[in-house]
Amino acid sequence: MPKNKISKEKSIRHAKTMTEIVISLVLLGAGGFFVRNAMKEASTVQSSPYFDDKDIAVTDVENTSVPDPNQIIYESRSVDTKDKFRGDLILVNEDHEYFGGDEDLVSIIEMNSENERTCFTAVDSTYTILRQVYEPMAQMIQDFSDQYNNDRLIIYGSYRTKEFQQQLYDDDVAQSEDGKSTKVAKAGFSEHESGLAFDFTEADNYDYDGTGDYAWINANCYKYGFIVRYTKSKEKITKIQDEPWHFRYVGIPHAYYMDSNDLCLEEYIDLIRKHPYDGEHLEFKDDKDTEYEVYFVASDDGAEKTTVPVPNGVRYEISGNNVDGFIVTVYKNQKPLVEEAPTKSFEDTSEENTENTTGDEETTDDGSDKTEE
Ligand SMILES: [Zn+2]
Repeated sequence: MPKNKISKEKSIRHAKTMTEIVISLVLLGAGGFFVRNAMKEASTVQSSPYFDDKDIAVTDVENTSVPDPNQIIYESRSVDTKDKFRGDLILVNEDHEYFGGDEDLVSIIEMNSENERTCFTAVDSTYTILRQVYEPMAQMIQDFSDQYNNDRLIIYGSYRTKEFQQQLYDDDVAQSEDGKSTKVAKAGFSEHESGLAFDFTEADNYDYDGTGDYAWINANCYKYGFIVRYTKSKEKITKIQDEPWHFRYVGIPHAYYMDSNDLCLEEYIDLIRKHPYDGEHLEFKDDKDTEYEVYFVASDDGAEKTTVPVPNGVRYEISGNNVDGFIVTVYKNQKPLVEEAPTKSFEDTSEENTENTTGDEETTDDGSDKTEE
């Protein structure tokens, strides 16, 4: 629970509701004197574009005079403005560089061994991935493996250091005829550097194309929080070739929304930007009927801190978008997780913060010779 509550404020929507109630009560009061006119006006008010909240009906006046206990109350939270470069929803592409350095990584093979998982492997134990990505990835593969009796998947690309990305790029340029790399992102511009992405291959042909039994993974990955990041139909937007083997973690709500609305990450980040805190939030349910509310808060780029409105007493997550601000994901009707934590970089700044932000970057030389993005 953040200690540094700067202020409490009710949501815009709530303010709107209250305004409507007041106006409606006034109208009802006037009705005592001018019944016919008041009824006319009430219907006028209801249909006015000025009050466009469809949930409000004149007949609700009596019921809504008692504050709705489910109404979300927002409070302000102060976050480091530079944290807009962190989180599960960062957009990394040729226009948006990844600025990392203190990723919390785990070795895939070591984690498999600790968890006695034998349904898949990685090329070797230097292959690492963000800690929070390992479990959903492993669970997805486990479910696939159980269903198709297949333990031949191999993680062929995962976290890469900037140096390793540079090496891949240089190798690709050296092999090309025109001195240009068409398949490998420049150092700093690959999702693999974030630890949020991984590539599959399989032990029989070393060629994962997401067809046959493997189509199950590409079709169901959203249930585990992953998207197939580069598809043929979005090639013009992502500027990356079709890559059915490359999966990117974004979290379940967002993977679900992108999958069901056929959006790539570039499009989704743009869409969320059109749902600012002060406007209409993006509200949806997933296929398990979990309700979400998502909104955007622009970063205060001139300042060290940005104030982000967050719900009080309701589970939420904040992620930077790596472009111009923060995305807040509200798990409506869910209480905050006890251990919930704001990812490491979003620690309450009023707490004593002894974290060493210049800690040594864990360098991992994954020996992959895969040459793509
Ligand atoms: Zn990849």
